[in-house]
Amino acid sequence: MASTIFRVQSHKFSQDNIQTTLVCSKCDEVFSKEFPLDLEGQTIEFKCPVCGGPGEADLPYKSAEEREEFEEDIDEVEEEEGDNEFEEDF
Ligand SMILES: [Zn+2]
Repeated sequence: MASTIFRVQSHKFSQDNIQTTLVCSKCDEVFSKEFPLDLEGQTIEFKCPVCGGPGEADLPYKSAEEREEFEEDIDEVEEEEGDNEFEEDF
């Protein structure tokens, strides 16, 4: 039973998570939180990072437009990385 509602003020889908800006209905504070892509469109429960009160938020669905954009981005990003070599000292 959650009495607090976290309203999604804005959201952005990245390649591996959903970045949201939420407003807590209990303390009225704005905070940002990331969720796994699997939770898209679901109602999830968590505690407010500001006041600590338990509540729930309805996560948005990714739109068709957003899906297409990210499929293109993924190829470009992977080509750029992989030049860094890490040396490990023990
Ligand atoms: Zn709160």
